[in-house]
Amino acid sequence: MVKIGILNLQGAVSEHYDITKKAVENMGVDVDVEYVRYADDVADCDGLIISGGESTVIGKLIHKRGIDKVIKDNNISVFGTCAGMVLLGKKTDFDQPLLGLMDITVKRNTYGSQKDSFESPIEIFGKEYMGVFIRAPVLESYDESKDDIEVLSTFDDEVIAIKQGQHIAISFHPELTEDTLIHEYFIREVLNKQ
Ligand code: GLN
Repeated sequence: MVKIGILNLQGAVSEHYDITKKAVENMGVDVDVEYVRYADDVADCDGLIISGGESTVIGKLIHKRGIDKVIKDNNISVFGTCAGMVLLGKKTDFDQPLLGLMDITVKRNTYGSQKDSFESPIEIFGKEYMGVFIRAPVLESYDESKDDIEVLSTFDDEVIAIKQGQHIAISFHPELTEDTLIHEYFIREVLNKQ
């Protein structure tokens, strides 16, 4: 059965688990959703969700546990939100371990500190969606020469959601809403890959 792993190292993990389960239920598909913590558990996944949290902490654990190698060796699709977006990139404004799966450079904490967190309607997949931004990153740049890159959403002229091949990075927190739209999109992408 197709398996989506929720990387359970640090951050808003249980919220992603709940909304992914809800998305699977809404879609009526046969997809297993599991928490994963170690390289061996990740190796069994077809898709992996990396939550918001502290990208430096999550990145160090990913590297220490060899999860980065397993993701690459098994060609696992990754959906990263907030800190997860940072980790998907090739470069940030900090010196930190990254997955480097997408040709994007990410600017961390673009909107300021925790107290500057905000919610705002955004548009994605032609629909209005509530964007929850918590010390959110945005894209500094992406490699426009890559054919497989697609900008999914912008907000105030900043790229806040982007896809490259099988990976998706978004700067806000869909797991803190009730709206399964983006999780359903990721699940569909993983299913289409099979
Ligand atoms: N600012 C955090 C980081 O770059 C991300 C914040 C979040 O995931 N809510 O690691």
